[in-house]
Order: sequence, then structure tokens, then C-alpha cells
Amino acid sequence: MAAIIRIGLTGGIGSGKSTVAALWAQAGGVVVDVDAISRQLTAQGGAAMDGIRHEFGAAFIAPQGALDRNVMRALVFEDHTARQRLEAIVHPLIGLEVARQAQGAIDRLARCIVYDVPLLAESSHWRGQVDWVLVVDCAPEVQIERTMRRSGLSHQAVEQIIAAQASREKRLRVADGVIFNSTLTMDELAAELVQIRARFGL
Ligand code: ADP
Repeated sequence: MAAIIRIGLTGGIGSGKSTVAALWAQAGGVVVDVDAISRQLTAQGGAAMDGIRHEFGAAFIAPQGALDRNVMRALVFEDHTARQRLEAIVHPLIGLEVARQAQGAIDRLARCIVYDVPLLAESSHWRGQVDWVLVVDCAPEVQIERTMRRSGLSHQAVEQIIAAQASREKRLRVADGVIFNSTLTMDELAAELVQIRARFGL
């Protein structure tokens, strides 16, 4: 049996990464959504919550039992060890759930797994986990416009998020394949995906 192909999918906020992941899944492909896994772990009843309560205290838990992201963000801003302590709890759990979902796909005889990883360009760990990196690239002004329309965030807030992420150049440097999604229509984007899937015999 041929080895499974592991594709890392990434892109800056508003680039169209989630749209590409959704198109991939619609075509019958397997997508492991690392961001969604991370959010589930820190939601009410999530597997990371006991560890977070133990490490940081009840002040970091919102009334419904999820991680209080605003309080945690404030701590991470002023205490540089806080991010590492949080990641030491969350990252191993992410790894377990990613492995569980990947094994499920292998058991179902999938030939390819797409790992949807927002911060792949920032993470040498993640780049080592995949065979091929697909970057959804987009001009910053289009990223800002799409994100503002989708989320209601201000122009300045989106600019700040983009500034905190890997630069466009850094992301392109780690790419094995690129979808330039600044001017494509949705149909053209879907057609690009068909071509990329065909490259892998899918
Ligand atoms: P990301 O996951 O990279 O943050 P999304 O896939 O959620 O971005 O896309 C951001 C917004 O832009 C969504 O509302 C999506 O429908 C829209 N979008 C993405 N690609 C295109 C495109 N080629 N043409 C028009 N709208 C697009």
C-alpha cells in the first residue's frame, strides 16, 4: 500500500484557508482542523481545562467553564512564561487528538490527509509533520477586507492580527504549492483545488 500523503495547509487570516479546507472536504478529502481541536480542548469540559485550572487558577476559567481568553491574553502579554506554560498543557493534547483523527483516516484507507494549521509557517514542529505545504496567499488589503466583512473587526484590529502572524514572504518560503487567492472567483478557486488534488492522484 502506498504511504499516505500528509499535506499542511496554511494561510494568513482572511486568505481563504478555511474555504480551501472546506472545498477539500467537500471533494471527499480528509481534513484535520488543528485550530478547531485547540478550541475544543479549551472549551467547556475540554480536556485541557483541568490542567489549566491547576496551573493558572480559577481566575482563568470563564463562568461556563471554558478558558477565559481575554484574561489569558492579558497574562501572556505581561508574563512571557505564561504562553509556554499554557502550550505545555495544550500542545501534547493537540498532538494526541490529531494523531487519533489521522489514525481514523488511515483505518478508513484514506490516501491523503490535509492538516489545516494556521501557524504552520511559524512552527518547525508542524513543518516536520507534513510532506507538502500548501499556502493560500493573498494580498494584505484583500485579507483585511474579507476578514472585516466576515468578522466585523476593525481595519486596525485585522492589521494587528496580520502583523502578529508570519509575514507573507515567510509563508511563501515554506510553501511547496501556492494558491494565489487575491483575485480568484470562488469557481476559479475550486478549479485550482481540482488541479492540486489531481497532482496527488486524487
Ligand atoms: P481564513 O480561513 O484564511 O481566515 P476564509 O476561508 O474564512 O479565510 O475566507 C475569508 C472570507 O473570504 C470568507 O468569508 C470567504 O467566504 C471569503 N473568500 C475566500 N476566498 C474567496 C474568493 N476567492 N472570492 C471571494 N471570497 C472569498
